[in-house]
Amino acid sequence: MSDAIRETPATPRDAFDLLTAGNLRFAAGAPRHPNQDAARRADTAAGQHPYAVVVGCSDSRLAAEIIFDQGLGDLFVVRTAGHAVGAEVLGSIEYGVSVLGCPLVVVLGHDACGAVAATRAAVQDGTTARGYLRDVIERVTPSVLAAQAAGVSEDDGFIATHVRHTVDLLMDRSQELADRVASGRAAVVGLTYRLAEGSVRTVASRGLDLPQDGTAVPAVASASAVR
Ligand SMILES: [Zn+2]
Repeated sequence: MSDAIRETPATPRDAFDLLTAGNLRFAAGAPRHPNQDAARRADTAAGQHPYAVVVGCSDSRLAAEIIFDQGLGDLFVVRTAGHAVGAEVLGSIEYGVSVLGCPLVVVLGHDACGAVAATRAAVQDGTTARGYLRDVIERVTPSVLAAQAAGVSEDDGFIATHVRHTVDLLMDRSQELADRVASGRAAVVGLTYRLAEGSVRTVASRGLDLPQDGTAVPAVASASAVR
Protein backbone atom coordinates (compact mmCIF):
# COMPACT_ATOMS: atom_id res chain seq x y z
CA MET A 1 0.00 0.00 0.00
CA SER A 2 2.92 2.29 -0.55
CA ASP A 3 2.30 3.25 -4.17
CA ALA A 4 2.03 6.83 -5.23
CA ILE A 5 -1.74 7.05 -5.27
CA ARG A 6 -2.09 8.01 -1.61
CA GLU A 7 -2.08 11.77 -2.16
CA THR A 8 -5.55 13.28 -2.13
CA PRO A 9 -5.88 15.45 -5.24
CA ALA A 10 -6.78 19.06 -4.58
CA THR A 11 -7.48 20.21 -8.15
CA PRO A 12 -10.05 19.06 -10.71
CA ARG A 13 -7.28 18.03 -13.11
CA ASP A 14 -5.37 15.97 -10.56
CA ALA A 15 -8.60 14.32 -9.44
CA PHE A 16 -9.56 13.46 -13.02
CA ASP A 17 -6.11 12.06 -13.77
CA LEU A 18 -6.10 9.91 -10.64
CA LEU A 19 -9.60 8.60 -11.29
CA THR A 20 -8.99 7.74 -14.94
CA ALA A 21 -5.62 6.17 -14.13
CA GLY A 22 -7.50 3.79 -11.87
CA ASN A 23 -9.93 2.98 -14.64
CA LEU A 24 -7.07 2.28 -17.03
CA ARG A 25 -5.67 -0.22 -14.53
CA PHE A 26 -9.06 -1.87 -14.14
CA ALA A 27 -9.73 -2.00 -17.89
CA ALA A 28 -6.31 -3.51 -18.47
CA GLY A 29 -6.98 -6.21 -15.90
CA ALA A 30 -4.26 -4.87 -13.61
CA PRO A 31 -6.03 -3.28 -10.62
CA ARG A 32 -4.02 -2.40 -7.50
CA HIS A 33 -6.98 -2.35 -5.12
CA PRO A 34 -5.57 0.68 -3.28
CA ASN A 35 -6.87 1.86 0.08
CA GLN A 36 -8.78 -1.30 0.85
CA ASP A 37 -6.78 -2.68 3.77
CA ALA A 38 -7.18 -2.48 7.56
CA ALA A 39 -4.72 0.41 7.82
CA ARG A 40 -6.78 2.52 5.45
CA ARG A 41 -9.93 1.57 7.33
CA ALA A 42 -8.34 2.81 10.55
CA ASP A 43 -6.96 5.96 8.90
CA THR A 44 -10.34 7.00 7.54
CA ALA A 45 -12.46 6.14 10.57
CA ALA A 46 -11.96 9.57 12.09
CA GLY A 47 -12.90 11.51 8.97
CA GLN A 48 -13.27 11.31 5.23
CA HIS A 49 -11.55 13.35 2.52
CA PRO A 50 -12.75 11.89 -0.79
CA TYR A 51 -11.49 13.57 -3.95
CA ALA A 52 -14.39 12.92 -6.33
CA VAL A 53 -18.16 12.72 -6.29
CA VAL A 54 -19.41 9.98 -8.62
CA VAL A 55 -23.04 10.28 -9.73
CA GLY A 56 -23.69 7.00 -11.47
CA CYS A 57 -26.29 4.50 -12.51
CA SER A 58 -27.17 1.85 -9.91
CA ASP A 59 -26.45 -0.92 -12.43
CA SER A 60 -24.76 -3.79 -10.59
CA ARG A 61 -21.95 -3.80 -13.13
CA LEU A 62 -21.04 -0.17 -12.51
CA ALA A 63 -19.59 -0.37 -8.98
CA ALA A 64 -17.59 2.86 -8.77
CA GLU A 65 -14.73 1.81 -6.49
CA ILE A 66 -14.17 -1.32 -8.57
CA ILE A 67 -14.21 0.17 -12.07
CA PHE A 68 -12.03 3.11 -11.00
CA ASP A 69 -9.78 0.91 -8.84
CA GLN A 70 -10.18 3.04 -5.71
CA GLY A 71 -10.75 2.25 -2.05
CA LEU A 72 -12.16 3.44 1.24
CA GLY A 73 -12.44 7.20 1.59
CA ASP A 74 -11.62 7.94 -2.05
CA LEU A 75 -15.01 8.46 -3.70
CA PHE A 76 -18.28 9.98 -2.55
CA VAL A 77 -20.77 7.94 -4.55
CA VAL A 78 -24.40 8.71 -5.36
CA ARG A 79 -26.13 6.09 -7.47
CA THR A 80 -29.69 5.88 -8.75
CA ALA A 81 -31.21 3.94 -11.63
CA GLY A 82 -30.29 5.80 -14.82
CA HIS A 83 -28.47 8.37 -12.63
CA ALA A 84 -31.85 10.03 -12.22
CA VAL A 85 -31.37 13.31 -10.36
CA GLY A 86 -33.79 14.61 -7.73
CA ALA A 87 -33.47 16.87 -4.72
CA GLU A 88 -31.74 14.33 -2.47
CA VAL A 89 -29.20 13.53 -5.18
CA LEU A 90 -28.46 17.23 -5.65
CA GLY A 91 -28.12 17.66 -1.90
CA SER A 92 -25.73 14.71 -1.72
CA ILE A 93 -23.60 16.17 -4.52
CA GLU A 94 -23.51 19.55 -2.80
CA TYR A 95 -22.45 17.84 0.42
CA GLY A 96 -19.60 16.10 -1.38
CA VAL A 97 -18.45 19.31 -3.01
CA SER A 98 -19.01 22.02 -0.42
CA VAL A 99 -18.64 20.14 2.87
CA LEU A 100 -16.17 17.42 1.90
CA GLY A 101 -14.36 19.61 -0.62
CA CYS A 102 -14.30 17.26 -3.62
CA PRO A 103 -12.84 19.12 -6.64
CA LEU A 104 -14.44 16.76 -9.17
CA VAL A 105 -17.96 15.56 -9.93
CA VAL A 106 -18.32 12.72 -12.41
CA VAL A 107 -21.60 11.73 -14.04
CA LEU A 108 -21.28 8.09 -15.01
CA GLY A 109 -23.56 6.44 -17.56
CA HIS A 110 -23.08 3.19 -19.43
CA ASP A 111 -24.09 1.24 -22.50
CA ALA A 112 -27.10 -1.06 -22.38
CA CYS A 113 -28.59 0.99 -19.52
CA GLY A 114 -31.91 -0.54 -18.47
CA ALA A 115 -33.31 2.79 -17.29
CA VAL A 116 -32.61 4.45 -20.63
CA ALA A 117 -33.97 1.45 -22.54
CA ALA A 118 -37.14 1.43 -20.44
CA THR A 119 -37.58 5.16 -21.02
CA ARG A 120 -37.10 4.78 -24.76
CA ALA A 121 -39.75 2.05 -24.78
CA ALA A 122 -42.14 4.14 -22.69
CA VAL A 123 -41.70 7.15 -24.99
CA GLN A 124 -42.12 5.01 -28.08
CA ASP A 125 -45.20 3.20 -26.80
CA GLY A 126 -46.71 6.13 -24.97
CA THR A 127 -46.93 4.00 -21.84
CA THR A 128 -46.14 4.77 -18.22
CA ALA A 129 -44.39 2.53 -15.72
CA ARG A 130 -45.94 1.27 -12.51
CA GLY A 131 -45.05 2.45 -9.03
CA TYR A 132 -42.04 4.64 -8.41
CA LEU A 133 -40.30 3.32 -11.50
CA ARG A 134 -42.38 5.97 -13.19
CA ASP A 135 -40.39 8.65 -11.40
CA VAL A 136 -37.13 7.29 -12.78
CA ILE A 137 -38.52 7.17 -16.30
CA GLU A 138 -39.92 10.67 -16.06
CA ARG A 139 -36.48 11.99 -15.10
CA VAL A 140 -34.80 10.24 -18.02
CA THR A 141 -37.50 11.20 -20.55
CA PRO A 142 -36.17 14.72 -21.40
CA SER A 143 -32.85 13.18 -22.44
CA VAL A 144 -34.54 10.58 -24.64
CA LEU A 145 -36.74 13.20 -26.29
CA ALA A 146 -33.75 15.45 -26.93
CA ALA A 147 -31.78 12.60 -28.46
CA GLN A 148 -34.70 11.67 -30.70
CA ALA A 149 -35.11 15.29 -31.79
CA ALA A 150 -31.41 15.33 -32.71
CA GLY A 151 -31.86 12.27 -34.89
CA VAL A 152 -30.10 9.84 -32.57
CA SER A 153 -30.99 6.21 -33.19
CA GLU A 154 -28.18 4.17 -31.60
CA ASP A 155 -27.86 3.20 -27.94
CA ASP A 156 -24.51 4.97 -27.61
CA GLY A 157 -26.09 8.24 -28.69
CA PHE A 158 -28.93 8.00 -26.19
CA ILE A 159 -26.53 7.15 -23.39
CA ALA A 160 -24.20 10.05 -24.22
CA THR A 161 -27.11 12.47 -24.52
CA HIS A 162 -28.46 11.43 -21.14
CA VAL A 163 -25.06 11.91 -19.51
CA ARG A 164 -24.69 15.37 -21.11
CA HIS A 165 -28.19 16.34 -20.01
CA THR A 166 -27.42 15.19 -16.48
CA VAL A 167 -24.24 17.32 -16.40
CA ASP A 168 -26.28 20.32 -17.61
CA LEU A 169 -28.94 19.61 -15.02
CA LEU A 170 -26.43 19.60 -12.17
CA MET A 171 -24.95 22.88 -13.36
CA ASP A 172 -28.39 24.46 -13.81
CA ARG A 173 -29.89 23.30 -10.54
CA SER A 174 -26.96 23.62 -8.15
CA GLN A 175 -25.77 27.21 -7.73
CA GLU A 176 -23.15 25.93 -5.31
CA LEU A 177 -21.69 23.64 -7.95
CA ALA A 178 -21.89 26.24 -10.72
CA ASP A 179 -20.08 28.78 -8.54
CA ARG A 180 -17.29 26.35 -7.77
CA VAL A 181 -16.88 25.42 -11.43
CA ALA A 182 -16.82 29.11 -12.42
CA SER A 183 -14.06 29.82 -9.89
CA GLY A 184 -11.98 26.80 -10.91
CA ARG A 185 -12.41 25.02 -7.60
CA ALA A 186 -14.40 22.16 -9.13
CA ALA A 187 -15.18 20.52 -12.45
CA VAL A 188 -18.04 18.36 -13.69
CA VAL A 189 -17.22 15.63 -16.20
CA GLY A 190 -19.62 13.27 -17.97
CA LEU A 191 -18.30 9.78 -18.70
CA THR A 192 -19.82 6.80 -20.47
CA TYR A 193 -18.66 3.35 -19.45
CA ARG A 194 -18.53 0.30 -21.71
CA LEU A 195 -19.57 -2.83 -19.88
CA ALA A 196 -17.60 -5.30 -21.96
CA GLU A 197 -14.39 -3.27 -22.15
CA GLY A 198 -14.43 -1.65 -18.73
CA SER A 199 -13.27 1.64 -20.25
CA VAL A 200 -14.70 5.17 -20.01
CA ARG A 201 -15.19 7.93 -22.55
CA THR A 202 -15.59 11.64 -21.94
CA VAL A 203 -18.78 13.11 -23.42
CA ALA A 204 -19.11 16.31 -21.37
CA SER A 205 -16.87 18.61 -19.36
CA ARG A 206 -17.40 21.79 -17.36
CA GLY A 207 -14.34 23.35 -15.83
CA LEU A 208 -11.78 21.04 -17.44
CA ASP A 209 -10.43 21.24 -20.97
CA LEU A 210 -11.03 17.69 -22.18
CA PRO A 211 -11.97 16.16 -25.53
CA GLN A 212 -15.71 15.53 -25.35
CA ASP A 213 -16.22 13.57 -28.52
CA GLY A 214 -16.66 10.20 -26.89
CA THR A 215 -13.19 8.94 -27.68
CA ALA A 216 -11.58 6.79 -25.02
CA VAL A 217 -9.92 8.60 -22.15
CA PRO A 218 -6.21 8.63 -22.99
CA ALA A 219 -3.50 7.42 -20.69
CA VAL A 220 -3.27 10.82 -19.09
CA ALA A 221 -1.69 9.87 -15.80
CA SER A 222 1.32 7.86 -16.88
CA ALA A 223 2.26 4.55 -18.30
CA SER A 224 2.68 3.36 -14.73
CA ALA A 225 -1.07 3.51 -14.36
CA VAL A 226 -1.46 0.13 -15.99
CA ARG A 227 1.81 -1.39 -14.98
ZN1 LIG B 1 -27.98 1.98 -16.08
